[in-house]
Amino acid sequence: MIYWDNNSTTPCDKEVLLSMEDFFSSNFGNPSSSHLMGKKANRAISISRYQVSNFINSEPNEVIFTSGATESNNLLFLAILLSDNKNRKKIVTTAIEHKSVLEPLSLLAKKGFEISFLPITKNGVVDLSKASDIITEDTIIVSVQAVNNEIGTIQPIKEIAEIAHMKGAFFHSDSAQAISKMPFDVLDLDCDFASFSSHKIYGPKGCGALFIKGGIHNWKWEYPFNGGGQEGGLRPGTLNVPAIVGFGMACKIANEKLKENILHLSNLSAYLEDKIIQKIPNSVIHARNAKRIPGTISVAFKNIPADIIVDNLEEIYIGKGSACTNHAINSSHVLEAIGCNADASNSTVRISLSKHSTVEEIDQSFNKLLTSLSAITNKLRGANHVAR
Ligand code: PMP
Repeated sequence: MIYWDNNSTTPCDKEVLLSMEDFFSSNFGNPSSSHLMGKKANRAISISRYQVSNFINSEPNEVIFTSGATESNNLLFLAILLSDNKNRKKIVTTAIEHKSVLEPLSLLAKKGFEISFLPITKNGVVDLSKASDIITEDTIIVSVQAVNNEIGTIQPIKEIAEIAHMKGAFFHSDSAQAISKMPFDVLDLDCDFASFSSHKIYGPKGCGALFIKGGIHNWKWEYPFNGGGQEGGLRPGTLNVPAIVGFGMACKIANEKLKENILHLSNLSAYLEDKIIQKIPNSVIHARNAKRIPGTISVAFKNIPADIIVDNLEEIYIGKGSACTNHAINSSHVLEAIGCNADASNSTVRISLSKHSTVEEIDQSFNKLLTSLSAITNKLRGANHVAR
């Protein structure tokens, strides 16, 4: 099997698994307990918090552990919903955000917030020319993803953060797809908040973080959840020690191998993209000329439905659109936002490589892809012929 759906999720690194094991069984203590086993768990959490913060260049106390990027995004927007700041009732975002940003924001819209969207170019990046007009003095927060999960485009978040701050607004970035695929520094990018996910970087599922500039003491709003006071009270509930330890280890490994992995993925991406363009007529790689993370290739094979491609490629796992919306019947909101028509959108698959991908694997899979595409084309032609 060849796994080319790494933007959806990644396998846990062996070292990550090993680091977690102890905390499931022999050292299973609750980090809030004051006995020795509790202290051990608490110390492991501190080490992980340091590893995550070191990776994103924050202070450890600026990292709040959550169950993943979905929760980090929701937590932030729910808190804003509960706030009673009457002078700032506007939120600025983009139409190509992940659903875990767009859905909570549509709830805020129902509750009286105005949600405005920064325009997106055909190349899948924010058009900055309108940003200063759209982000106004009544904006409470601007939320723009660092990297798009479907097409891999890198957004100009540093520039957007600067405009947001000039207007007195906070800046948040859903950065789930950025870390480990590009250098990512919350300080340099001037984020007030950023969301992260462990399972996109070879860590365990069900774990992530919300970065808060200045830490919990800088939190301006009520806490949406209440309980035992963990994570400064913002994210109460017994900490998932093994997952947090694994997330920390995944960050440590990603940090140590960042340059190497980016170079590896860049070489593989260029190799595969050239092959696709040269050998598959009628294929279009979305946002091909935009600044993108390496390893993400969103490609339309014209007139061939993505469902059929994905089902036919039995030995290669690839995604269609975004995996998180795979079960939805609607076509991709991201492709729609960049001006793709329904036909192109429905024939788009997403290949997302990993640090484990190789040239040999690409050669092998590419041949299978070619064979499969021509078989599907012949079948569809035959079906059309019979229908006529
Ligand atoms: N944001 C983006 C950009 C993502 O790609 C994903 C995962 N598909 C999420 C948020 C959700 O992350 P998690 O699975 O950790 O909740």
